[in-house]
Amino acid sequence: MRLPYIDNTDPLYFRRFKAWEKVTRQEWDDWKWQMKHTITTGDELEKVIPISAEEKERINSTLDKYKFAATPYWVSLVDTSNPECPFKLQAIPMPEELVVSPGEFSDPLGEDVDSPVPGLTHRYPDRVLVLITTICSLYCRFCTRRRIILDKEGHLERGQREKILDYIAHHSEIRDVILSGGDAVVTGSILEQWLKGLRAIPHVEIIRIASKVPCVLPMRITGELVSLLKKFQPIYFMTHFNHPYEITPEAKMACDRLAEGGIPIMNQAVLLRKINSDPLIMKRLMQELLKIRVKPYYIYQCDLSEGISHFRTPVEKGIEIIEFLRGHTSGLAVPEFVIDMPGGGGKVPVMPNYVLSYSDKKVILRNYKGQIGSYPQPSETNCDCSTHAAVSEGTYQKAAGISKLFGDEAVTLEPKEVVGRTK
Ligand SMILES: *Cc1c(COP(=O)(O)O)cnc(C)c1O
Repeated sequence: MRLPYIDNTDPLYFRRFKAWEKVTRQEWDDWKWQMKHTITTGDELEKVIPISAEEKERINSTLDKYKFAATPYWVSLVDTSNPECPFKLQAIPMPEELVVSPGEFSDPLGEDVDSPVPGLTHRYPDRVLVLITTICSLYCRFCTRRRIILDKEGHLERGQREKILDYIAHHSEIRDVILSGGDAVVTGSILEQWLKGLRAIPHVEIIRIASKVPCVLPMRITGELVSLLKKFQPIYFMTHFNHPYEITPEAKMACDRLAEGGIPIMNQAVLLRKINSDPLIMKRLMQELLKIRVKPYYIYQCDLSEGISHFRTPVEKGIEIIEFLRGHTSGLAVPEFVIDMPGGGGKVPVMPNYVLSYSDKKVILRNYKGQIGSYPQPSETNCDCSTHAAVSEGTYQKAAGISKLFGDEAVTLEPKEVVGRTK
């Protein structure tokens, strides 16, 4: 596959449409200039790149309900001759967006249900998700939180920071906090206040920053921002590239800055029909990410948010992609494919089946080439470590999980409380 932007020998190359002919390099590289000139209507977009009347109308007709925004940087990457250009498909609305299909929800992941304080979701034992802003520099049409982020009426309650920090401070089991939105870094001062607040809480070990700017507004990753983040380590930067074309010299520079600041970068891609629903595209994406020191973390099955049925792929497409990656390319390039279970069930990893069968004597496996082999089980099964009490304050229930079924301790296992949720 040809990567036109990477192959260019000028590392600061960008494609100038006529409208930006007079823009200086300095202006272009200034994220504030980019934010100020962000395109928010069909009429504005038409002035900078050739789009069809139908495309313009599509943008304008969704504007009553949903926001639209794309940075000049992003628009400069559009291939105007390709109707399936990934930059277009991710940013320009389709008519289907206004249609709610059966099985779709406004809050498919039940984020508002598991929310003890508005803006905070506490679903998993030791980590929480915090929405710190509704602003993004690009409104992805497949946004899972479109009810808050894309919807014109969507909003976060104001003045929640103290309440959220207070909740985290009073829950000592929380050791990992994800700052998301919107985009957690488009607004610098808000981010700093959050980081200060979190670092004042001793049990918060890890802070994750969820942001798409390395992909849509790479000039936002300034030396100044990296210096700020470095003060609050350990920080993990969770970013969002979906297509290998997005890995431009500018994106590489942004990720270099973060990596050189000692901030690990992880990628969460979304599987999107006709954008990256193809094993070769995904393999290239993962390999290109590694080259800019970004570790592929998750590929998400597209959520059941309203109006995005046209982006969804059958689940087996994701399994096929993982099958095509595992063993065929570096293990580093293989993310986990997950489905966020509707109704607040959380992320469930889904993968090809490599364990064909097992007994207490042997496990029957197949490898990535399809060869079938076996692994002999050890006869000694006692694996208790005498030091575990010294390294962990928690308690670990012996014979938890399915090992109870191997012994004679249980015939079936059931979760203690099964609570169903309806729409
Ligand atoms: C995805 C998610 C997390 C983080 O999950 P990891 O598997 O630890 O990356 C935490 N809280 C919520 C609500 C999430 O959706």
